[in-house]
Amino acid sequence: MKATPAHQGLLMQLQKLDTEINQLNFKLKSLPEHEQIKAIHSRLEHSAVELKVVETELEDVSIDLRRSEVDVEAVTARMEKDEKRLSAGLGTPKELEQTQHELATLAKRKAELEDGELEIMMRHDGIKKRVDELKSDEEGLKKLELELNVRIENATTELNALIATAANDRMKLAPQIDKALLDIYEKVREGQGGVGAALLIGNKCDGCHLQINAIELERIKTLADDDVLRCEECRRILVRI
Ligand SMILES: [Zn+2]
Repeated sequence: MKATPAHQGLLMQLQKLDTEINQLNFKLKSLPEHEQIKAIHSRLEHSAVELKVVETELEDVSIDLRRSEVDVEAVTARMEKDEKRLSAGLGTPKELEQTQHELATLAKRKAELEDGELEIMMRHDGIKKRVDELKSDEEGLKKLELELNVRIENATTELNALIATAANDRMKLAPQIDKALLDIYEKVREGQGGVGAALLIGNKCDGCHLQINAIELERIKTLADDDVLRCEECRRILVRI
C-alpha cells in the first residue's frame, strides 16, 4: 500500500499520542496510593480483631478489680468495727482478747487482698495501655487513609486532564491521516500492545527492536518513499526517517 511520507509522519505523531494516553491510563490505574490503602485496610482489620479481644479482657479485669476493691472495703469496715469495740472497751476481757486476735488476722488478710488488688490493677493498666495503643493506631491509619484518598483524587484529576488533552489532540490529528493507513494502524495497534507504528532506526524496528535482515533492507532501499513498510517480525507499520 501507499501513503505519502507526510501521512506516515502524521501517523507517527498519532502513535506518540496513543503511547502517551496508554502510559497515562496505566499510571492512573497503578497509583501507589491504591496499594497503600489496601495495606491500611489489612492493618485495620487485624487491629479491629485484636481490639475486640483486648477490650473483652479489659472488661473481665475491670470486674476482677471491682470485686477485689469490694473485698478490701469489707475487711476494712470489719476492722474499723473491731477497733471501735476495742477502744470503747466493750465486752469481757476474753472477748476483747478475741477481738484483738481477729484484728490481727484481718490485718493480715487485708494486706494479702491489697497485694492481689495491686496485681490486678497492674494487669488492668497494661491491658488499658494496649487498648489505647490500638485505638490511637486506628486513628492514625484512618487519618492516613484520608490523606491518601486526597492524593488519589488530586492525581486522578491531573492525569484525567492530561488524558483529555491528548485525546483531544488525537481527535484532531486522526482525520488528517490517510484512511487506509489509519485502518491498518488501528488493527495492528490492537494486537500489539498499543503500538501500531514504529520507526525504522538503522536496521532495527523500533517497535519490536529486532534487526531487519540484509536482504529485506536491500529491498527497502529500492522502494519509493510512499511505499508503506511493515516489519516482518511484528507486522507493525515501519516508518522511515
Ligand atoms: Zn518489528
